Amino acid sequence: MYVTTMAKKALIIGVSSQDGSYLADLLLEKNYNVIGTLRRSTHQTYENIDHLFGKINIEFADLLDFESIARLVRKHKPDEVYNLAAQSVPADSWNMPFYTGEITGLGPVRVLEAVRQFHPEARIYQATTREIFGNIQAESANEETRFDANNPYGIAKAYAHMMTRCYRESYDMFACGGILFNHESERRGLMFVSRKVTAGVACIKNKVKKPPLNEAGEPLITPDGKLQMGDLTTKRDWGYAKEYVEAMYLMLQHKTPMDYVIATNTMNTIEDLCRIAFDHVGLDYKDHVVSTKNFFRPTEIKPLKGDYSRAKKELGWEPKISFEELIKLMVDADLKRFK
Ligand code: NAP
Repeated sequence: MYVTTMAKKALIIGVSSQDGSYLADLLLEKNYNVIGTLRRSTHQTYENIDHLFGKINIEFADLLDFESIARLVRKHKPDEVYNLAAQSVPADSWNMPFYTGEITGLGPVRVLEAVRQFHPEARIYQATTREIFGNIQAESANEETRFDANNPYGIAKAYAHMMTRCYRESYDMFACGGILFNHESERRGLMFVSRKVTAGVACIKNKVKKPPLNEAGEPLITPDGKLQMGDLTTKRDWGYAKEYVEAMYLMLQHKTPMDYVIATNTMNTIEDLCRIAFDHVGLDYKDHVVSTKNFFRPTEIKPLKGDYSRAKKELGWEPKISFEELIKLMVDADLKRFK
């Protein structure tokens, strides 16, 4: 075990996630002892955390299994617990409503309960999402905005968020819900729209013969060189994951536990995303992107910006990188990855 005496100990549940890997990088810089959990898998593909092996302690746990979480809480007695694991793909949640509820909704309760029973002093971060506001018709949302989730993922996350608040208020535990709006990076999963576009651009530009699969299990690029997308008019508030994990850390250093919205308070369409990504390699997205009903969600969430005033005032956090810079750095990373 890699232990620095007197250093703080953090347990990151879901360290292979985009956010988990950046959070581990950040906490190592701050001299934490980091324990990161993976799910057991017969195939070991951990691109996001390859660079972390040997620097953090890896443990195996599954949000479906209370004992696998409780065992780690008893064994490590962490100062901080970050729950980043989830069935995290909203589009998949319609096909997997039970599974999404079990992992994304009940999973966090297993974490809260393990901490309550075995190490209630630990500070907890729960990964909430803007999807809890789903159908809200408003320009922007803050921590007081009413929830109106309209897909199984958002509804499961709303339940987990309220349970986090319930444990904070009922048991006086230091538990925070970070209501994060979309955040992307070169480590984002390929199932998410930003990486779908940046990987698509790289595969088209580099004429990749065997592109990765899209969310329908088909090659990302069709034989005639097209990238199949859903509704291009959909709007999101998109930020950079590396900056967002700093907010998670800051929440757990604050004197009182609270929920915080983390966002950029700006919005762009998927069409903007496509335009910037293709422009960056000298291509016109109109020649390559097709919008097809097969990739529309059954119900869309309403356009919404995130008002991060509380995080700015109390944590001194604010976003720095622009949307355009973010998309360009993702395209650059994918051009290197897909040769
Ligand atoms: P991600 O890359 O999609 O990773 C999800 C993680 O959950 C992976 O490490 C996955 O492990 C793990 N996982 C899935 N099922 C599990 C289970 N049953 N037991 C244990 N681990 C399990 O996630 P992300 O984008 O970094 O997001 C981190 C968290 O923030 C998620 O909870 C997500 O829902 C939430 N969130 C994300 C955004 C965003 O825009 N990125 C916005 C708001 C909230 P494998 O590697 O084995 O699949």
